[in-house]
Amino acid sequence: MIAAKGYAAQNHTTPLAPWSFERREVGPHDVQFDIHYCGVCHSDLHQIRNDWGQGIFPMVPGHEIVGKVSKVGSEVRKFKVGDLAGVGCLVDSCRTCENCQQGLEQYCLTGAVGTYNAKGKDGLPTYGGYSNNIVTHEDFVLHISDQLSLPAVAPLLCAGITTYSPLRHWKIGKGHKLGVVGLGGLGHMAIKFGVSFGAEVTVLSTSASKEADAKKLGAHHFVLTTDKEQLRSRRNAFDFILDTVSAPHDFKMYMALLKTNGTHILVGLPPKPIEIPPFSLTNQRRSVAGSGIGGIPETQEMLDYCAAHNIVSDIEMIDIKDINSAYERMLKGDVRYRFVIDCTTI
Ligand code: NAP
Ligand code: ZN
Ligand code: ZN
Repeated sequence: MIAAKGYAAQNHTTPLAPWSFERREVGPHDVQFDIHYCGVCHSDLHQIRNDWGQGIFPMVPGHEIVGKVSKVGSEVRKFKVGDLAGVGCLVDSCRTCENCQQGLEQYCLTGAVGTYNAKGKDGLPTYGGYSNNIVTHEDFVLHISDQLSLPAVAPLLCAGITTYSPLRHWKIGKGHKLGVVGLGGLGHMAIKFGVSFGAEVTVLSTSASKEADAKKLGAHHFVLTTDKEQLRSRRNAFDFILDTVSAPHDFKMYMALLKTNGTHILVGLPPKPIEIPPFSLTNQRRSVAGSGIGGIPETQEMLDYCAAHNIVSDIEMIDIKDINSAYERMLKGDVRYRFVIDCTTI
C-alpha cells in the first residue's frame, strides 16, 4: 500500500483535520500522481456535513485534482512520469453499459464510483484530493495542458465540466438568452462558457457586491434577485436558466423569468426536495431539467477547449489549514470564485 496524508472529516459534525491513510498499490493500468492543487467544491461541504445522507467516514473530500505523474503501471500507455494529470469526480464505472459506451460514465447504469465518499470495486472506500497523492485507473485520468495556470485549471475538473456539459447538451449559444443563477464556483464558469459559446448571459445573484465581477467575468447583464423591480423587468426573458444555487430557494420566482418553452436546468444540489407549482410549468410550456457533472470524453474535450480558448477559473489559493474557515465563507456565498488548496501545505 502507498502512504498518503490528507485532511479528513471523522464524522459529519467535526471540522476537517490532518489524517494519514493508505492508497492501493499502482496496478498495471493505474496512474499515481503527486497532487499539487485541489479545488474546493460546495459538494465537498454538502458531503462532509452529510447533507445528502450516506456519508462514508473518515472522509477525505476533493474532486478537482491536478498534479504531476510520479508512477505508472506496466500497461499504461496514455501517461508517463512527469506528465501533468487531473482527476475529477469519477474514478471508475462499469465501462460496458449503454451510457458508459457513449462516454456518459457519470450516468453509469450500475453506478459510477465517485472520487471520494464512495466504495471502489475492491470494496474499499475512495479518498479524494485534499491529500498529497492519488492512484487512479488511467481511463479516469485527464490530460492537462501546460499552457494554463495549473491551480486555476483544478476547478475545471468539476465546476468546469458541470457547467460546460449542460450548455453543450442543450446547444446553448448564439441567439440564446441565458440566465445564470448564483455567482459562485459553478456560476462563474457558466458565465465564461456561456459567453464563449455566444449566448447573451445574465447573472441572477443575491449579492449586490458581485455585480462588477459578473461584468468582468464577461456577463452582459446583472440582476439583483432581492430587488423585486429588477426581477419583474426580466419576466419571460430567458431561453435557459442554469441554476447553480446550493441552498433551498424559490423556483417559482426564477421560472417566471423563462420564456415560453424555456428550460430551467438544475445543477445545484440543495439538500431538500424542490417545490414547483404546476402552473409555473404549464402556463408557458416550460421545462425543468437536471444535469450531473460530465463523462470522461467530454471532460477532456472541455479541458482542451479551455486550453484553446484560454479559459480558467478565478481562484483564491488557500493553505490546507484554512479549509474550515474557507467553508464558512462558502456558506455565506463569499467565494471569489473558487478556493483552491495548495496541496504542498498538507
Ligand atoms: P458556491 O461556490 O458556494 O456557489 C453557490 C452560489 O449560490 C453562492 O455563491 C450564491 O451566489 C448562491 N446562493 C447560495 N445560497 C443561496 C440562496 N439561499 N438563495 C439564492 N442563491 C444562493 O457553490 P458551487 O461549488 O458553485 O456549487 C453549487 C451547487 O452545485 C452545490 O449545491 C453543489 O453541490 C452543486 N454541484 C452540482 C454538481 C452536479 O453535477 N450537478 C457538480 C458540482 C456541484 P450569489 O451570491 O450570486 O447569490
Ligand atoms: Zn464538485
Ligand atoms: Zn456503466
